[in-house]
Amino acid sequence: MSSGSAEEIDLFVIGGGSGGVRAGRVAADHGARVVIAEAKQWGGTCVVRGCVPKKLMMYASMASAHLADARGYGWTIDGARFDWPAFAAALDREVTRISGAYRGALERRGARVLEARAELLDAHTVACGGHTFRARHVLIATGGGPRRLDVPGGALAITSDDMFTLPALPARLVVVGAGYIGVEMAHIFAGLGSVVTLVHHGALPLRGFDADVRQACADNLAGRGVARRGDTEPVRIDRVAGGLRVTLASGESLDADVVLAAIGRAPATAGLGLDRAGVALDARGAIVVDEWQRTSVPHIHAVGDVTGRYALTPVAIREGQAFADTVFGDRATPFVPDHVPTAVFSQPPIATVGLTEEEARARGEVVIYKAAYRPLRHGLTGRAERALIKLVVAADTRRVLGVHMAGDDAPEIVQAAAIAVTMGATKEDFDRTIAIHPTVAEELVLLK
Ligand code: FAD
Ligand code: NDP
Repeated sequence: MSSGSAEEIDLFVIGGGSGGVRAGRVAADHGARVVIAEAKQWGGTCVVRGCVPKKLMMYASMASAHLADARGYGWTIDGARFDWPAFAAALDREVTRISGAYRGALERRGARVLEARAELLDAHTVACGGHTFRARHVLIATGGGPRRLDVPGGALAITSDDMFTLPALPARLVVVGAGYIGVEMAHIFAGLGSVVTLVHHGALPLRGFDADVRQACADNLAGRGVARRGDTEPVRIDRVAGGLRVTLASGESLDADVVLAAIGRAPATAGLGLDRAGVALDARGAIVVDEWQRTSVPHIHAVGDVTGRYALTPVAIREGQAFADTVFGDRATPFVPDHVPTAVFSQPPIATVGLTEEEARARGEVVIYKAAYRPLRHGLTGRAERALIKLVVAADTRRVLGVHMAGDDAPEIVQAAAIAVTMGATKEDFDRTIAIHPTVAEELVLLK
């Protein structure tokens, strides 16, 4: 269809994930004529193959430790078994329900939804599912996808996309990469009963996190039975009788039923017609945007993972909201992510906001307050696990520049602490806050 017969609209959103759905809904609320296209499933990575199924899987996995810990509290638990097909079916139902709710919310706001792949024919014309639209504005919210292992046999490794629909629980799992996904999946499958080995670069997992948190992460992986091979990477994967064999650069080989490559994600920009529209990409293939989410073409914006900055759902949502308010809501809202709290849903979890000790030291003098302690709960469970809370404080202004925690409920605790850090609280503000006792979080206001 030529652009001459194209339907005129105000906004075409490519991608129905976290960022695109928020932008489409808010733009429609502001009165824009919105069309939004989703090629796979509404809700995108977060709802279908990311945050949501991952967290539900984490709950399934945590049950085994809770059952084991209950013994210390006098419980006798006989015959507890995990039923993978039953869990997988429940997971699928919940993801389908939430995905449907995303689509429903768009339709209720008056956005037109298309379930097909969209591409730009030129800077204003979008083709999708046999239709052509002439859009005043285009939003690219296509997210990203997992990188594949580039070694002989690398295609034998699966990615996180496949972890939620495995036909059976793997008896032996090798996880390659110890970033967010690698660490989370290693814990999840160890808790469910798989024998897990985590293979990673460097001596410790979670490069980029605070050094004490990385050490706590390594200790907790060991505590939950995950084996690690650091300072190495796979050089090949072969099919052998009974499974797969991963050969490491160190010379060692590991046998597995499933190999998970969790080695980062790449922005989804291929086949979108960005070259025809003149949208500039950076060296890693991500769309370059300014603080208004504007690309090199002023009426084409981009939000979320496709811009290659923070790959976190709340950031994609904020960007989508800011874009829609700016362009259609008469409310200019620049968005520069700052003080972005984040969590790794390991067991126990890790959460952090602000600067690591290393980052803060590079900017000036700092004072470090930290405690590693045995939570009361583990007095009876017998677990050797310790909780870590660490504050990074500026020596001159006394502002708390970073809060880092590894321990039960860390994401819930650090979410609240992030308000104080965002407001610019000082160590003395933390100190004059009364503790809630007995809690894990009370150390936040008791650190000396
Ligand atoms: P996406 O959610 O990826 O949505 C993009 C959508 O665009 C997709 O649905 C795709 O099908 C569609 N699309 C692509 N191309 C086209 C096209 N040409 N036409 C039509 N549609 C198209 N973040 C957190 O904050 N917390 C977590 O706990 C967390 N856990 C995660 C766990 C895993 C395993 C993974 C992989 C990610 C996790 N993330 C988490 C990251 C989070 O999922 C992403 O940051 C977020 O989904 C990005 O949103 P987005 O809108 O940019 O893209
Ligand atoms: P990350 O960037 O977090 O981690 C990738 C890891 O893979 C790094 O540790 C990297 O090591 C390692 N790596 C790269 N290549 C190889 C290789 N050839 N062999 C061994 N290791 C390798 O990516 P993820 O895939 O874990 O997650 C992608 C993004 O999704 C995250 O950055 C995060 O933004 C988001 N996400 C958020 C979650 C949350 O909020 N809880 C959960 C899951 C994902 P090194 O850096 O040392 O080279």
